[in-house]
Amino acid sequence: MVQVVADKEEVRRICDEKRRAGVRVALVPTMGALHEGHLSLVRRAAGSAGFVVVSIFVNPTQFGPSEDFGRYPRDLAGDVRLLETVGASLVFAPDASSMYAPDHSTWVTVENVSGGLCGAARPGHFRGVATVVAKLFTIVHPDVAVFGQKDAQQVAVIRRMVRDLDMGIEIVAAPIVREPDGLAMSSRNCYLSPDERREALVLSRALDAAREMLETGETGAEVIKRRVRELIEGSPLAGIEYIEIVHPDTIAPVETTTDGALLALAVKFGNTRLIDNVLLVPSKG
Ligand code: AMP
Repeated sequence: MVQVVADKEEVRRICDEKRRAGVRVALVPTMGALHEGHLSLVRRAAGSAGFVVVSIFVNPTQFGPSEDFGRYPRDLAGDVRLLETVGASLVFAPDASSMYAPDHSTWVTVENVSGGLCGAARPGHFRGVATVVAKLFTIVHPDVAVFGQKDAQQVAVIRRMVRDLDMGIEIVAAPIVREPDGLAMSSRNCYLSPDERREALVLSRALDAAREMLETGETGAEVIKRRVRELIEGSPLAGIEYIEIVHPDTIAPVETTTDGALLALAVKFGNTRLIDNVLLVPSKG
């Protein structure tokens, strides 16, 4: 049975006890509305730790004023039922008032890595993410934390925070889980109309095309980006926010994929903003 706990001091006590008993503790931070992508992270965590904490918290500080905080899907009972099946030990589901004091004043800002891509499009987003993840790390004290490569910039931000603040937590990035037709799973996919859902397939197709270009020897970032843009612009419902090729750790733009690069994009379909990415790793030999 998964234990569901809202009180952070109780979570701290339970996790301390586990660690003292020599049990390895893993944390999987989520905002709930769980799908197979999230569950893959929990399975991964359960494979490397004896006690797996899944946090479910729609973190208000990572949403902009005109974003979807209010209507973000929430289904704690359904989430807990799913988590029973994948080896979670404890669900930490705090409410916003217990996570943020009315006069909360301390923020974690990860410079540079947070600047481009989603950081440029969503000012303050990564400050909210880094701050809440730092708080979760301080409450749970995990040995390992598992994040999805779906949010590749988030992985880079968290890795940098852990390194810079000497947190000593192992960060694992798990592969993107996709629907059978290629769309990257996301809690926000439920916002898409049937037409938008169909058109959104252009994203994974464009990423596949980029990977094929790499396989046939193309390494120029501009050439690859131009092709990806052309493909996505072929969809009348797609509104491109960015298509970038960057270094996966620094998120700084690169001109070639020769040393490996991250192709990341954000595209709106109606009011729904989707992100997706692929690591462009040159084939050996
Ligand atoms: P979220 O609930 O959207 O904040 O996501 C919680 C965690 O699940 C993050 O580390 C995400 O990167 C990860 N995640 C979300 N969607 C996917 C997916 N399709 N595949 C793998 N991981 C995912």
